[in-house]
Amino acid sequence: MEKARIFFGTNNPHKLREINEIIGSRYELLSFKDLVEEIEVEETELTLEGNAALKAKAFFDHTGIPCFADDTGLEVASLEGRPGVFSARYAGPACSSDDNIDKLLAELSDKTDRQAQFRTVIAFYDGDEMRYYDGIAKGNILPARQGEGGFGYDPVFQPEGHSQSFAEMSPQEKNAISHRGKAVRAFANFLMGG
Ligand code: IMP
Repeated sequence: MEKARIFFGTNNPHKLREINEIIGSRYELLSFKDLVEEIEVEETELTLEGNAALKAKAFFDHTGIPCFADDTGLEVASLEGRPGVFSARYAGPACSSDDNIDKLLAELSDKTDRQAQFRTVIAFYDGDEMRYYDGIAKGNILPARQGEGGFGYDPVFQPEGHSQSFAEMSPQEKNAISHRGKAVRAFANFLMGG
């Protein structure tokens, strides 16, 4: 049977791999690399939900097939939820993940409470309705980087109940407990009529 096509508006190969592992058996996952031209959407909203919806709608308008987009933030308790929706640009507009981690570790240097959570919101738009799915991974910010895998803040995020950072886990191990894994499974459950 031919697989239904779904567009995921991302260029991030890590995210595509993570998501494809979950829904790939049932859906043909298309992304920017399958388009002739890239679509730029500025993330102007102040919530994860707002930015995810903005992107899903823009991608649907461009591709005409059901689209989803995600937005993720790292919410640190002792920093009043920062960097949150600004996680990608925490250390400045053109910063790297390393810059963001350095800034985070510096801001937490005098804090004893290092609790944090990743939160992912997926917005799915099929031209008719906007639907939202979310997932949370609770954990702690480590005092220093651990591990080489993953991306973003993974080397300094230790999920609750685990001794490794996300960057020390295989993609499968991370997927099983991650914010994005949970959001994708909630979304996949809907896609598969569950
Ligand atoms: P985005 O909304 O998925 O683009 O994520 C915003 C920021 O959070 C980026 O700086 C990412 O590097 C970071 N981020 C998103 N997901 C993860 C993750 O699973 N692990 C570590 N960092 C992440």
